[in-house]
Amino acid sequence: MSSRVHTSIDPGPQGTASPRADVSPVGWVPDQPMDAILDVLRRGERFLVCSHSRPDGDAVGSMLAMGMLLGQMGKRADLVTADRIPNIYRALPGAEDIRTAMRVHGPYDAVILLECDGPDRTRLLGMESFYLVNIDHHATGRNFGHLNWIDRDAASVGELVYRLIKAAGAQITPEIATCIYTTVLTDTGGFCYGGIQPSTFALAEELTRAGADPIQIAREVYFSTPTSKLLLAGAALTNLKRDGRLAWLWVTHADMIRTCAAEEDCEGIVNYALAISGVEGAAFFRELPEGCIRLSLRSKGRLDVAAIAARLGGGGHENAAGVTLDGPISQAIELILAELKSGIAAIQPGFETAR
Ligand code: 5GP
Ligand code: MN
Repeated sequence: MSSRVHTSIDPGPQGTASPRADVSPVGWVPDQPMDAILDVLRRGERFLVCSHSRPDGDAVGSMLAMGMLLGQMGKRADLVTADRIPNIYRALPGAEDIRTAMRVHGPYDAVILLECDGPDRTRLLGMESFYLVNIDHHATGRNFGHLNWIDRDAASVGELVYRLIKAAGAQITPEIATCIYTTVLTDTGGFCYGGIQPSTFALAEELTRAGADPIQIAREVYFSTPTSKLLLAGAALTNLKRDGRLAWLWVTHADMIRTCAAEEDCEGIVNYALAISGVEGAAFFRELPEGCIRLSLRSKGRLDVAAIAARLGGGGHENAAGVTLDGPISQAIELILAELKSGIAAIQPGFETAR
């Protein structure tokens, strides 16, 4: 097993989380997280499946696929997120079954958290009392659950759910294939980002053979852009700045209102800055209504933006990370530029000023 796979199994501190005795994975071998998770699924009856707030393609697709696995196993699964599902993922099979809530209520035999570095990342209240199963692939993933499966080499959490489905002996239906394919497509930025391996393409082939339609999925994800998103991108591009290997852009809350943009319209705008020739690090800043700043960080190559985001309370992957910062935007930009410059200087002294 790869050294980038982390797993831990913890029955939970006494007196806090209360794993039901009949689903507690007592005695599992820690390097077989899939088996331990499958056993929890087999023993339980009711599960809550959730992911992070502002769900992306991996969050939505992996939740849906996990729900379908549980359905095939004859279990009851509630799929819940704190924020609504972005339009481009609404056509995914079963997307209408995902409920939006602020608080979760049991009883559940276990809560399956996908793509989260802690229960807080879901922004759902009421998580504390449940038995938590954590499945993640982020560089900044943490063993916060009672059962943890973190594989940093997986292209998406959906890939891990796919492995789980195969290990369960469940059927890879066209619906499951469609959901998992979407997780891989979106988390690799259309098979562009680092972390792609030969096995990623083998997985895409398997999913396509199982009924995922790459053209239709790409059409939903990349060719269903609302006008508001392009207007917002226009606003962001008027604020585009470049300094050596770094480029950044931003939008104010007023820009969001003026362009009628939804939160989900911000996804991918950072890539305009990263796409510039010679740029190694990019940032997109968005002012929230309450004055905080949402930051998306991206990099090419060895610049580790997850480390920067994690230092500031966020997280992500080496080449794609995010965090919420204090405003105003000018202060957030100053802070992040300093971080990015020292990040670039650390991997290649003198590199940050080269053009
Ligand atoms: P994005 O910039 O697209 O919002 O996020 C890029 C990556 O960083 C995603 O994998 C996302 O899950 C992660 N990420 C974004 N914001 C946060 C955050 O506030 N906390 C953590 N832990 N991860 C984040
Ligand atoms: Mn992911």
